Amino acid sequence: MHAKSSSKYLNSRVLKLNVGFIMAEGAGFSRDVPLEIPEPVRVADDVTLENLLGMLRLTRTSEGILVQGQLECTSLAECGRCLNNTTVTYTLEVEEIFEISYRDDPFVIGEDGILDLAPLIREESILNTPQQVLCRPDCQGLCPECGQNLNEGQCDCVANDIDPRWTVLADLLHKED
Ligand SMILES: [Zn+2]
Ligand SMILES: [Zn+2]
Repeated sequence: MHAKSSSKYLNSRVLKLNVGFIMAEGAGFSRDVPLEIPEPVRVADDVTLENLLGMLRLTRTSEGILVQGQLECTSLAECGRCLNNTTVTYTLEVEEIFEISYRDDPFVIGEDGILDLAPLIREESILNTPQQVLCRPDCQGLCPECGQNLNEGQCDCVANDIDPRWTVLADLLHKED
């Protein structure tokens, strides 16, 4: 896997939606907003996602806006067997009411009509990251003795374990000669 340089990350500003036009409507008005961000987005200090794709339905409620939808995303992860960097793709189920507020709350719509999806996507991403991540289904993992990545080849530990028996056999074979 290629590590992406941090300079290529998009700022989480791309997750700010201007919802002024929905706020101007009455309760019940809804609009589907596609989200299509193939580039890596630094959602928060601890969450970077790429291929953020999906459709969000924004519905005007009496208190604010209900955000619902499903988003696919890919994030960097560590293989549970060999510890190499790999990527994992999963779905975020999003459902949250953003209220009009001047409080310092992540799920609010500011006076400027801006709804910031970043805190919601961060939270859902942390909750939904798969626990068992493998770089490939048949990952061989690390040698418990020496830590060698067995996908890259066998280490001497395995050979040493087998050696005594094979040595005896080899000796016998040599005696046959
Ligand atoms: Zn692996
Ligand atoms: Zn080993």
